[in-house]
Amino acid sequence: MSEQTMSEQTIFRNAKLADGSLADFFVTGGRFSAIVPAGKAPPADFAAVAPAIGTPGIVDPAIIDLDGQLVVPAFVEGHIHLDTSFYGDAWRPHIPCTNGFDVRERVAFQARNLAAAAPMAERAKNQLELCVGNGSLAMRSHVMVDASVGLSHVETILAVREKYRDLIDIQLVAFPQSGILSSPGTAELLDEALRLGCDLVGGLDPASFDRDVKGHLDVVFALARKHGAGVDIHLHDGGALGLFQVEEIAARTKALGMAGHVAVSHAYGLGDIPPDALARAGAMLAAAGVAIMTNAPGNHAFPPVAALRQAGVTVFSGSDNIRDSWWPYGDGDMLNRANMIGYRSGFYEDRELAAAFDVVTHAGARALGLADYGIAVGAKADFVAMPAQHVPEAVVAVPKDRTVYRRGKAVARDGKVLAR
Ligand SMILES: [Zn+2]
Repeated sequence: MSEQTMSEQTIFRNAKLADGSLADFFVTGGRFSAIVPAGKAPPADFAAVAPAIGTPGIVDPAIIDLDGQLVVPAFVEGHIHLDTSFYGDAWRPHIPCTNGFDVRERVAFQARNLAAAAPMAERAKNQLELCVGNGSLAMRSHVMVDASVGLSHVETILAVREKYRDLIDIQLVAFPQSGILSSPGTAELLDEALRLGCDLVGGLDPASFDRDVKGHLDVVFALARKHGAGVDIHLHDGGALGLFQVEEIAARTKALGMAGHVAVSHAYGLGDIPPDALARAGAMLAAAGVAIMTNAPGNHAFPPVAALRQAGVTVFSGSDNIRDSWWPYGDGDMLNRANMIGYRSGFYEDRELAAAFDVVTHAGARALGLADYGIAVGAKADFVAMPAQHVPEAVVAVPKDRTVYRRGKAVARDGKVLAR
């Protein structure tokens, strides 16, 4: 953080760690410089970087007593749409499709709704503050790029990212909401979006939307290579058609050596295929280093979280749509999302509840390639403190009275971003 200097220090006392022990944190320049059992004296190296403690005329480090609250790493919002939500704007009643779910029809409804909406920057800010208020300090947002809106959404959300850089880390995906091959000019727009600052190139149902899996993926992966960008593809196709595309994406990722830089969002197909096919897909995804994003949607088969994790696949999560033209749900709370993932997955044991929690924290950090994440010496001091006995109870109880710390400073409390 620009306003912080290396000498700025804070001591956090009586933090409850995931293993139930109480610890004191020493934060220097926005990072954990030491973590010791509660009540222990500052370590020698902390004193070395803080020789001023007690020295007349020098400000002592701030001391914050966390009073035994559970402390966890800040949540990772791995899939959201900052440009299309109406959160904080007027309520938009959901319009049903005329003849079963149809992406093209929904995109048309979306265009109609957006034309009458509050300014995008304002709606994005509302949604972003909702997420930070609930404890997410890193986010991946898809941003619509197509022939009708051009780069206007990307330009607006890039400016929003810049404005809130000190509050939250945001990755942007250039997202072809209207397909690539079926929307002439989109490939060039995606290229330009990546040049402007998007971090990843997106995709949308290569088979069912563009009806050309090879053509669609050729464009996506060529752009990724050209810009050194990651890939995160929306894939809603189910069954064998979905599985086929997952395999194609994994094969390309492996061939291009892009392990750790590719994700498939939704991948519903993984939720409705036979166990032997799932086992093969899991092994292939793990070997290729392709992550799977699921928000455990209410009315869909979705990727089996436990089986994929068992196979070594990084499974992460996000809110996806929040009060937009696709559905009215979403609260921007990744702890509640862990609860939903656990609920829909039939997770009851503590180790399973902890796995649901991992999906919204460490696994998310891995999928997004976040450096220096977690409660560990040297990591960025981005964390959430809340009243809970331990992680499994937090996943079940979803306590809302949380305090969110960004680089060791409180930035949100009880769901609200504090004045900066
Ligand atoms: Zn999405």
